[in-house]
Formats: sequence, C-alpha cells, structure tokens
Amino acid sequence: MKWMKHKLLGFSILLMTLVLVGCGEAVAEVDIGTRIQTEETPVLTWGVKADTNLFGFYNIQSSKIEGFDIDIASALTDEMTNGNGIADFVEVTSKTRIPLLKTGKIDGILATMTITEEREKQVDFSDVYFNGGQSLLVPEDSEINSIEDLTEEHTVLAIKGSSSTQNMRELSPQVEVLDLENYSEGFVALQSGQGHALTTDDAILLGMIDQNPNYRLAGQSFTEEPYGIAINKGQDFFHEQLEAALDTIQGNGVYDEIYEKWFGEILPAGAPGSPSTSTTGAAEPALDESGDE
Ligand code: GLU
Repeated sequence: MKWMKHKLLGFSILLMTLVLVGCGEAVAEVDIGTRIQTEETPVLTWGVKADTNLFGFYNIQSSKIEGFDIDIASALTDEMTNGNGIADFVEVTSKTRIPLLKTGKIDGILATMTITEEREKQVDFSDVYFNGGQSLLVPEDSEINSIEDLTEEHTVLAIKGSSSTQNMRELSPQVEVLDLENYSEGFVALQSGQGHALTTDDAILLGMIDQNPNYRLAGQSFTEEPYGIAINKGQDFFHEQLEAALDTIQGNGVYDEIYEKWFGEILPAGAPGSPSTSTTGAAEPALDESGDE
C-alpha cells in the first residue's frame, strides 16, 4: 500500500502544481516583500541576461554573470534586506523572461527590459532605471547609415521577444526581419553575413562594438526604450520596497557609481543612459509589441 500512498501524494502535488501554475499564470502566494523581511538570510532571484556585454554577460574567468543589471540587482537586494540577503541570478533571454517570472522561477527581471503598454498588461514595472533607444549595428564598411537607408533588399537581424523586432516590423515593413534566439546568435549571424544589420538598443550594441571594433552604429536611435524592473502583479509590498530601494540607490550615489563603472567610458555624455543624464526627457513607452513574448 506504500506505493499507493506515494502515488496519491505525487498526484496531489501534481494537481496543486497544475492549479498554481495553470496557463503559466502562477504568482507567489506570499508577497516577496513579506518573505524577505521575515527570513534570516533571504534570497532574491533575479532574471538577468548572460549574453549582453555591459548589462549581463557571463565571464568565463570568474564563472560569474557580470554587468550593470547585475550590480543594480545586488545593490537593490542589499537595500531591501538591510545587507542580510543574497542576490541569486538566473539567465533569461528576451523571450523567456516573462514566462520565467510568471511561473515563479524568478522574483524579478532586471534584463534590459523596456516598459511597454503591452508588457504592463502582464507584469508590474518599477520606475525607469535606464534610458535606451533602438538603433542598428552594421559592419564598419556598410552602406547603411540610418534606418531610412533600409530597403526591401535588406535583411535585419533581431531577437525573439524583444521590442526591437516588433518596432522594426512596424517602422520598416519593407525589410525582411530574421529573429534569432539571443544576442550571441544574433551577432554570429551578422558576422557570417546572414543579415545586413542587427537591431536592438544602442547601449547593447555599444557593448558589442566594445568587443568587436569592426562594427559601428548606423545613425541615431529611432525609438525610446525606458528600462524597468519587472515583477509579478499582486506583489504590492514587494513593489513598494523595490521603488523605495531604487529611489535610495539613485539618490545616495550607489547608482551613479555603478553607471560610471559600466558606461563611464562607453556612453557619450547625455544619452542613452541613466534617467538623470538622458537628453531624451521623460521616458515614453516604446511602440507596442503584441504577442512576441
Ligand atoms: N529593450 C528591448 C526590450 O526590452 C531590447 C533589449 C532586449 O531584448 O532585452 O525588448
């Protein structure tokens, strides 16, 4: 009969999981804000990029993911847990980040993610913590110098689940857009001539140029991409704590230090960048993307 008990137990757990995770809509039962205040050593699990130089990039030598988003996540974790917490990192891509959040695998997304109206229907966002803008990466000797130069002869590489792929289709419908899984694949495809340009946010592209100097940006950015930290809906206390922690690190110099560390030498003064240094003014949502995540 023991096996039967096990089977029944297994079945009940499966049933509970299915109820909780039904349609990928599960939300943690306890507010994460309450959890991190009651646990002795709370762990906050952040979804971050691991293939995006400057923001979240896997360093083979240190065996760690490093970048601006990682340092911001660590600073926020410290702030929210009075230094007692641990920031844990899980790799996400533009396509997997919302599903991983909704199924409770991560507590928050800090991964170059633009606040858009479409995404706001699925997740809650913090205030803007970085201002990007979409641009094009091309080989140094390319004849493309701005989005206006794109014709039906051109193929542009983009990343699945990014707002950039949707924006590109809306702004340059004549162009063929090829969607890749992640930024590593996107850049390899550009290198091997499978597209004339790769499109995403300028700061991400500058990170690629930093590692591959034979590439350049083609002109100015053509959208506004205000980045926000995404958490599940219904996490009101956690949301409050997150906003307060973001305010604190933006006011006490910690944010500026992290910004300087990653972008000090790379970003020209002004834009893109921290909300306080951007010349683009108040962040406006980028174009809507529908059904890409
Ligand atoms: N910021 C854009 C987005 O949220 C592009 C960068 C990314 O793929 O994360 O989709």
